Amino acid sequence: MSQDKAATIAVRAGINTDQHHSAVVPPIHLSSTYRLEGYNQKGDYDYSRSGNPTRSSLGTAIADLEGGCTGIITSTGMAAIHLICQLLNKDDLLVIPHDCYGGSYRLFTHLQQRGLFKLAVVDQTDIAQVEAVMQKNPRLTLIETPSNPLLRIVDITKICELAKKAGSLVAVDNTFLTPILQKPLALGADIVIHSTTKFINGHSDVVAGAVVTKELQLGEELAWWANCIGITGSPFDSFLTLRGLKTLPVRLKQHQENAQSIVAAVASHKAVANVYYPGLKEHPGHQLAAQQQAGFGSMLSIELNGGLDAVKSLFEHLSLFTLAQSLGGVESLISHPSTMTHAGMDLEAQLVAGIKPGLVRLSVGIEDVDDLLKDLTSALDNCLAITES
Ligand SMILES: *Cc1c(COP(=O)(O)O)cnc(C)c1O
Repeated sequence: MSQDKAATIAVRAGINTDQHHSAVVPPIHLSSTYRLEGYNQKGDYDYSRSGNPTRSSLGTAIADLEGGCTGIITSTGMAAIHLICQLLNKDDLLVIPHDCYGGSYRLFTHLQQRGLFKLAVVDQTDIAQVEAVMQKNPRLTLIETPSNPLLRIVDITKICELAKKAGSLVAVDNTFLTPILQKPLALGADIVIHSTTKFINGHSDVVAGAVVTKELQLGEELAWWANCIGITGSPFDSFLTLRGLKTLPVRLKQHQENAQSIVAAVASHKAVANVYYPGLKEHPGHQLAAQQQAGFGSMLSIELNGGLDAVKSLFEHLSLFTLAQSLGGVESLISHPSTMTHAGMDLEAQLVAGIKPGLVRLSVGIEDVDDLLKDLTSALDNCLAITES
């Protein structure tokens, strides 16, 4: 495990590893196969599904940043989520949060319907519910904090304590914050999962994932499965992600600074009914976020007074916030959870989860903040006409 600080690990990942030409930046190893020195004399690599030098550099860097020991790079974030399901036998119980990423929810419920494991869905902000489910001695507990799209915060340390007593492993989906802003392994988790598609790559040009384990044995078991199923990431995607990773700490600084300015500006805007951002003192998870995170991140949601009509008007009048899925890229994006990320939920379930038709989610990018503010506030001004009509 590296003793260096995060920015050094991120920048130096793979640098000076080229033995043949002393290239400073590591080359992309696209070869699918590797020569044996002779009969039964296998080198470090033999076949690219099982191992690849470019992918290894990225896996090591993300594991170092998380303070873990093994880093497995997968073809997508969902492949990373699927990979941890291999730890479950048919009588094992998996505990998931009621508001986890929609794709994860879909995967877990469909695998459970086929009898591959048992599933318990709980509201992890309610510790009594967590205590109750731990009586059933789950095999694996998944945490996702902050949640999507309402940025709810759950107590990683507390849940890990309860899980450990019950003999459950804990995996944390750390996609929204990255190891720069939250270190789940140090808080007691066994596994960290990422959709590296988001902040870690940060340039919206790769879909990929990662699984990091605290212990070597669990890492070897999951690496065995990743090769067995064939879900390891491509060398080219790994190369691009290594390149994106170098600027992760500086990108996040700017993302957060911009997000804070935007929160301050929209919180008092008459078109806005509610702002969901853990950095706000009135956010129910504010104290906890301040404790377990190194920053409040750059994801936020706002609820418009004018409901769906105001949302449509907002989208029409924005030019810098692009209407699109996904998050964590250098460019600012805006989305409508009700008809996009959470469209799979029926309207009633959405309302129970707090997802109203007037809710929009922002992934604040690193454009000049004055331009972002001008774009957003003038589009919100246009929404006022609807609110007042
Ligand atoms: C996007 C996302 C995923 C899925 O990752 P893909 O790279 O899209 O497969 C999982 N968890 C969270 C929190 C995400 O935002």
